[in-house]
Amino acid sequence: MKIISNPLALQQHLKNIDKTLGFVPTMGALHEGHIALIKQAKEENELVVVSIFVNPTQFLAGEDLEEYPKKDAADKKICELAGVDILFFPSASELYTQDEVKICAPNVRGYVLEGATRPGHFSGVLTVVMKLLNIVNPTRAYFGKKDAQQLHLISLMVRQFFMRVEIVPVDIVRDSDGLALSSRNIYLSKEQRAQALKIPKSLYTASQLISKNVVDTQEIKAAMHTILSPLKIEYVEILNRDFEVIREVQIGNTVILVEVIVGKTRLLDNIWL
Ligand code: AMP
Repeated sequence: MKIISNPLALQQHLKNIDKTLGFVPTMGALHEGHIALIKQAKEENELVVVSIFVNPTQFLAGEDLEEYPKKDAADKKICELAGVDILFFPSASELYTQDEVKICAPNVRGYVLEGATRPGHFSGVLTVVMKLLNIVNPTRAYFGKKDAQQLHLISLMVRQFFMRVEIVPVDIVRDSDGLALSSRNIYLSKEQRAQALKIPKSLYTASQLISKNVVDTQEIKAAMHTILSPLKIEYVEILNRDFEVIREVQIGNTVILVEVIVGKTRLLDNIWL
């Protein structure tokens, strides 16, 4: 596995390679969720590039940028074992300068749900993803469905900026107890982790109701709120695949999203129906 930190050196290295290229952008502290993205990228492409970069522009003041888990040595090992060809490991000063051109998240879709409590977060995400996609120029880029709003906005950006990359959504990987894997789960104490299990439980309850033909989204959301109580709920929302609020569940075109704060930890989860 080649490790490259300089963006121009990576571009140069990839310039003359005539192979299908799968790209998996991450912020490191890799877990089975990231590995699922890498595996799928390996299956579908001749060459796989993974990036590890904790992007400062997507953290708001007072968020966990400084504490964000760093596991560089373990991450390198995981990438090597997973058969990654190139690990891109830039520093902030190699990706950003001062007074830069930025990508702005759209006014509505970028400022609802997670964007409502983290205004500007998605502009930072889109800006770094634009940079990374331009550096790597992959055939396909892999993103987890866990970050459903992020995936939606990146897909919009790629379409609206006529970018030549296929965005591939990958299913959520969960722990054996049902909690969606996240690098931030290590912040949770044992008690907090037990409380956090209300999140997958609320989604399971929603799917059970729907299987009994309950389609009214208000009714489903109310049942989910009851399960999640007394956790600090940021939002429970039921949308279609275009991220528009719907009154009735439409099988094949519905996403149920939850964001909850447990202690100081923001936890996201969702199911696609
Ligand atoms: P992160 O390192 O948290 O920025 O995540 C990097 C990529 O991995 C993103 O596309 C995430 O959506 C994806 N990801 C994170 N957790 C999971 C998970 N549990 N299952 C599937 N994909 C995930």
